[in-house]
Amino acid sequence: MDDCIFCKIVRGEIPTTFVAENQHAVAFDDIAPVTPVHTLVVPRLHIASMSEATADDEQMLAACLLLARDVAVIKEIRETGWRVGTNTGPDAGQSVFHLHFHVMGGTRLSLGG
Ligand code: 5GP
Ligand code: ZN
Repeated sequence: MDDCIFCKIVRGEIPTTFVAENQHAVAFDDIAPVTPVHTLVVPRLHIASMSEATADDEQMLAACLLLARDVAVIKEIRETGWRVGTNTGPDAGQSVFHLHFHVMGGTRLSLGG
């Protein structure tokens, strides 16, 4: 996707420090963190959201969650606790339409919102 900001980051067209990466996904810190640790896990493949995911994406999705775990280890929140989540569509407030998982921690997280 030519105009997708996360595709540009994945392709290296926007200089970005990767916290971690694997075959299917990269992780980098959110530009506007809302928690002390706020890192995005972004698949290399362009897919708009979880609403578009199919069984063919099984390995990619597993790799995203395992990369989220790697981020938790690197950011030293594996023991204190962390959350991984993905906003999907308007009611969830999705603003970038390239699938991504927020990895959040470093503070006590509330439910809901
Ligand atoms: P969403 O609202 O779609 O769930 O999350 C999009 C996230 O991407 C937001 O938390 C926003 O701060 C982050 N974001 C948007 N553009 C950029 C960018 O160019 N670089 C980085 N690192 N984060 C971005
Ligand atoms: Zn994209």
